[in-house]
Amino acid sequence: MKTLDILILGSGPAALCLASELAKQNLTIMGISTKSPKAKWENTYGIWASELEELGLESLLSHRWSNTVSFFGNGISEKGNKSTEHRYDYGLINQEAFQNELLKKCKGIEWLNETAKQITEEKNISEVICFSGLKLKARLVIDASGHKSNFIKRPERKNVAQQAAYGIVGKFSSPPVEKDQFVLMDFRPDHLNKNEKISSPSFLYAMDLGNETYFVEETSLASYPALSQDRLKKRLFTRLENKGVKIKEIYHEENCLFPMNLPLPLKKQFVLGFGGAASMVHPASGYMIGSLLRRAPLLAEKLAIYLKEPNQSSIELASKGWEVLWPNELTQRHKLYQYGLQRLMRFDEGKLRSFFSSFFKLSTKEWVGFLTNTLPLPKLIYVMSKMFINSPLKIKLGMLNIN
Ligand SMILES: Cc1cc2nc3c(=O)[nH]c(=O)nc-3n(C[C@H](O)[C@H](O)[C@H](O)COP(=O)(O)OP(=O)(O)OC[C@H]3O[C@@H](n4cnc5c(N)ncnc54)[C@H](O)[C@@H]3O)c2cc1C
Repeated sequence: MKTLDILILGSGPAALCLASELAKQNLTIMGISTKSPKAKWENTYGIWASELEELGLESLLSHRWSNTVSFFGNGISEKGNKSTEHRYDYGLINQEAFQNELLKKCKGIEWLNETAKQITEEKNISEVICFSGLKLKARLVIDASGHKSNFIKRPERKNVAQQAAYGIVGKFSSPPVEKDQFVLMDFRPDHLNKNEKISSPSFLYAMDLGNETYFVEETSLASYPALSQDRLKKRLFTRLENKGVKIKEIYHEENCLFPMNLPLPLKKQFVLGFGGAASMVHPASGYMIGSLLRRAPLLAEKLAIYLKEPNQSSIELASKGWEVLWPNELTQRHKLYQYGLQRLMRFDEGKLRSFFSSFFKLSTKEWVGFLTNTLPLPKLIYVMSKMFINSPLKIKLGMLNIN
């Protein structure tokens, strides 16, 4: 078989976001994936509506909420049950429409149902060997096979923190959250025991999907070791029980587990990554879809330029690609986010409530910019400093690791 310009591994959001941009360039591209690119994605993807609006893609939302709130009180008194109103629209992506929209743009790209086993580089060209025995050669291999990729080299880290969540879509005896409401974080801790409050707090992420159907998910922002699905499930059920809410029917269960602070990949390697494989998850929130959509066009354009140079080896192409994906600016921001996450992971539920309560007192532009990773580095430093100055002393000490 002829050597391809680009071979993409995977057919999840990362693979399709990048492939849909690469398809605009005049390149020979193929994809291989364990699953068909048409197979329905299993995860429920949420996003701030403005992230899609800025790209003209807001029609891809299946649901949109203006009533967006969090709860950072202790859940005991009236004051402790007061909501923090975000006054900023949040949405749920219509997976099918999103997937179809991207696939439509992947004109001319064929996907084979194969699983990559090994990738080698010889005479400046990469070769992917599949479990079936099939061998494919490409000038550049892009690994978009997700967070568990075996092919991307990165510094070793033993205690990688994971975001874990257990959620259900279903019908309930009474609304678990207000009608037409989206709850980003309900940190009220009344369903947690003393030990859980100290060592592994979790919050409720929930939304009204209409038609008396709700999605409720017990979420651990990040912890090492990860909270098990069993523990999260028990917590979710206790939380509902404490509210007097009974589950009548479950339509869908979501089991969520992915790494939050994977070290950034090495820039000198012959495979380029994108998406989970390239540590693109926002280390302070766990979101990634917005950044896939924002970062794919530039990477695709640049790769097409580099590929015009016929003598570029796989390692030269991939290294240049890594520079585009993780330039100094984004690398520095990533370090700041990781610093923040590392501190948050040491906070008990009381400190977390206090931290997020201060965080959402930032201006909307500031907190949205922080959560979507769209603030330029100096602004991010300014926002983080402002947040620090405005926080209570116990949070300041916690952020400095003096507690
Ligand atoms: C349950 C859950 C909910 C999430 N919710 C959100 C959210 O609301 N908003 C948000 O922004 N982010 C969310 N995330 C985080 C992140 O956006 C997702 O993990 C996202 O699916 C990662 O995209 P990806 O394409 O990198 O990897 P994946 O979606 O994991 O896709 C990997 C692809 O590679 C294929 N593959 C794997 N191994 C091989 C191989 N060896 N050879 C060939 N193909 C292979 C797989 O079949 C699959 O097609 C969520 C994650 C999870 C797990």
